[in-house]
Amino acid sequence: MDKNTYIPENFIDDVKSYIPPHLSLEDFIDSCQQPLRLSVRVNTLKMSVADFEKEAQKMSWQISPIPWCPEGFWLTRSKEEEAALPIGNTALHLSGCIYVQEASSMLPPLALREEIHAIEGNEFAILDVAAAPGSKTSQLGALMDNRGLLVANEFSSSRLKVLAANMKRMGISNCALSHFDGKIFGDYMFECFDHILLDAPCSGEGTVRKDPNALKNWSIESNIEIAEVQKSLIKSAFLALKPGGSLVYSTCTLTPLENQQVCSYLLEEFGDAVEIIALDHLFDNANLATTDQGYLHVWPQIFDSEGFFIAKFKKRVSVAHHDQQIKKGKFPFEAFAPKAQLAFNAYLKKQFKMNALPGNLMQRDKELWLFPEHLESLRDKIKYARLGVKVGTIHKNGVRLEHELATSFGQLAKQNTQALTQSQAVDYFQGKDIRLEKLTSETGEVILTLCGAPVGLGKWQKAKIKNNLPRDLIAQGQLITWV
Ligand code: SAM
Repeated sequence: MDKNTYIPENFIDDVKSYIPPHLSLEDFIDSCQQPLRLSVRVNTLKMSVADFEKEAQKMSWQISPIPWCPEGFWLTRSKEEEAALPIGNTALHLSGCIYVQEASSMLPPLALREEIHAIEGNEFAILDVAAAPGSKTSQLGALMDNRGLLVANEFSSSRLKVLAANMKRMGISNCALSHFDGKIFGDYMFECFDHILLDAPCSGEGTVRKDPNALKNWSIESNIEIAEVQKSLIKSAFLALKPGGSLVYSTCTLTPLENQQVCSYLLEEFGDAVEIIALDHLFDNANLATTDQGYLHVWPQIFDSEGFFIAKFKKRVSVAHHDQQIKKGKFPFEAFAPKAQLAFNAYLKKQFKMNALPGNLMQRDKELWLFPEHLESLRDKIKYARLGVKVGTIHKNGVRLEHELATSFGQLAKQNTQALTQSQAVDYFQGKDIRLEKLTSETGEVILTLCGAPVGLGKWQKAKIKNNLPRDLIAQGQLITWV
């Protein structure tokens, strides 16, 4: 029990006014003081759930499935292991095979799973309005199987950088990052998105088990202030949604001011155009946390998790919007010349037996980028901070490949790949060259893998592989093994 957890009296008084009658305040306070169980989500773009289970067994990790998420597991490691090797420095994490994500935070993307899986092909777009650090964006990317276009927006520039790094590690290749106040989407991208997730900025009352100081600055005034931002974001998101599409609104807070009342605002603003989709059947026992309106209000004591709120709406019909805006300025990329494209594809074929990459190759100055196919209609609507995957830098004699080409598409290579041993992987992530046991006659670039997933690029050099890991990704501390 974490008795350091700070739970102010005025917060408890407020909770008393809305806690549902079938839940007890004592249980709620008790559960706020219990440490949170560690949970991870398997990134199926990089590893199957069955392979994760085998890896976990090899490392003597105890895992138990999270009932609502087929890719989610609670995970117990020995205290010594946890102290010696943080989960973020394990091979499974560094390779992008897992994401440390709280169990209830897996629910919002799952509320869109059915819709996403029902779409065939690439002609669709999904928006994540408040995306950093990217747990749900990467979950959406995996649900989309890198198809279609995933626009991930984040207002904070420092958090946008973390989001970008996480998308690279997780191998999300269909993503466009943008850097705006989320309230612009309704005006600039009116009815552009098939489905939208708004995991809104909130007062974080549900996160107190992870952060004992989460309630330190709690006040009802700040709840009210944040609710105003949430209302502007939910309105914008609903405007940006195509008719027939679904909008999921979520927060990691408990107060109805930031949850039910924000949903009521949406219903009032758009009347018959909005339909609530009840979430009581999202998973077995979801009804234990479902409100009368059909929202999920996950109190921490119900499933032994963080507190969360999730609501789902369908846009039944188009709505009027007279204040649409058009971005000025030209799209700063041009198509990669067909001849150069042929040469690039021939190189990938020769070196890696890899077929042409899925998407459109575009260049800006010397940079070569691969954009998701379904971008044409959306590419001029807003300015993107980062679009698709940077696959290379153009030189006189061809293209020098980028790290991200390997992490996003390395699994397509059929030759010139090298599975790293544990000690080689430590060297690699520390930025050192990789010593080979035997001299090699291979030449040129090689894709490095760990746990079966591509983690980067190197260059064969007889007794070693030259390390091409970008400097900003070099990891510190104990890595991969702990004994
Ligand atoms: N969805 C993220 C995830 O699962 O990793 C967590 C998102 S967090 C709850 C909310 C995010 O919204 C924060 O990163 C915050 O910086 C961002 N934010 C705050 N105000 C915003 C705004 N007006 N528009 C867009 N994003 C905003």
